[in-house]
Amino acid sequence: MAVIPVALAGRAYEVVIEQGLLDHIASRAEPYLAPYNRTGRAVPFVADTNTHAIFAGDLNDRLASAGIKAEWFVVEPGEDAKTWRVLERLCDWLLALGVTRKDHVFALGGGVVGDLVGFACAILKRGVGFVQIPTTLLAQVDSSVGGKTAINTAAGKNLIGAFHQPSLVLIDPLVLATLPDREMRAGYAEVLKYGLLGDAAFFAWLEANGEKVLAREPAALEHAIASSIAMKARIVAEDERETLDRRALLNLGHTFGHALEAETGFSDRLLHGEAVALGMVLAARYSARRGELSADDAARAARAIAAAGLPSEIAALGLACNGAALVDHMRHDKKAEGTTLPFLLLKALGEAYVARDVDLSDIAAFLDAELAAGKAGSGAV
Ligand code: ADP
Ligand code: ZN
Repeated sequence: MAVIPVALAGRAYEVVIEQGLLDHIASRAEPYLAPYNRTGRAVPFVADTNTHAIFAGDLNDRLASAGIKAEWFVVEPGEDAKTWRVLERLCDWLLALGVTRKDHVFALGGGVVGDLVGFACAILKRGVGFVQIPTTLLAQVDSSVGGKTAINTAAGKNLIGAFHQPSLVLIDPLVLATLPDREMRAGYAEVLKYGLLGDAAFFAWLEANGEKVLAREPAALEHAIASSIAMKARIVAEDERETLDRRALLNLGHTFGHALEAETGFSDRLLHGEAVALGMVLAARYSARRGELSADDAARAARAIAAAGLPSEIAALGLACNGAALVDHMRHDKKAEGTTLPFLLLKALGEAYVARDVDLSDIAAFLDAELAAGKAGSGAV
């Protein structure tokens, strides 16, 4: 068991990581469940159809034995749940339940459910509380902590949102037993990200133990989750709203990654974590091209990503576009600053930094070479 504090003045909260935690939900979340109990009301839980089908039965039983009744709002799985329409229905449902500003809403699911519930709670009555119970590795190590909440619109992903911190994050690594392997690997990309961006020793540990993490071996998995969250918590506490260059470090691999996600239509062709994995390979190789990282270290980063069964060559995606088209997607990135774009690059494995002097035409040329690498049969690493 690990308890990691997120030290934000006035909104400090804890992330609890514990095997079998869901069996003790009534005691672990007691402060946030008790107000409903005192007033004889049902507790609002939000899930998607998968997490509802897998976990709601047991959770209802655990809660019932503590005299608590849950009401469920269940959305379809996938990004389509992060829309104005679903947000409106969720807010109406919470209002109909009589949720007050002192109450907490429970989010049980991956990043989609967490982002949707977090944003609904940010705007409902100008802010009600929420508890995150992330059920994907990606949500456990990344999106459930830090308070970024959002929905999507026709213009792009996560363009409508708010910073709204949860009051508690409850992580039970056992819930990952049912997570599809591909989703597990995608979440693992964000775990590797923490090693690459700020902790060489953790990166080396992942090189040696990544297989155990992916196989959900309890001790390795808990260490990977706790180390990831400890770093995220530290960075968020230093720079909650990404106004310094600290929180931006968490975007390692994401500028390249978002361009690849956009090019593949944000579809199952390339999951977010897979795009981030490729993005990190590209960031490492581009850093090597600038002479800031050794070619050996760039190859080592790519090897760790490939070893986890994650994509490490963009040529293998078979994209029909060129580098300029990918750069065009980047210009529409939320992080774009006018005509320039901050790039997260590596000085070493375990040391990322924000580069503001990157020439986008050089990025396009670099990407053209990467896109052609496989075709020429020279896809190194
Ligand atoms: P992410 O956390 O990567 O943003 P989503 O919220 O879209 O992802 O969840 C990815 C998929 O995994 C969804 O289909 C979701 O229903 C499913 N899922 C989430 N948690 C689990 C779990 N513990 N077991 C099985 N499937 C799960
Ligand atoms: Zn990400």
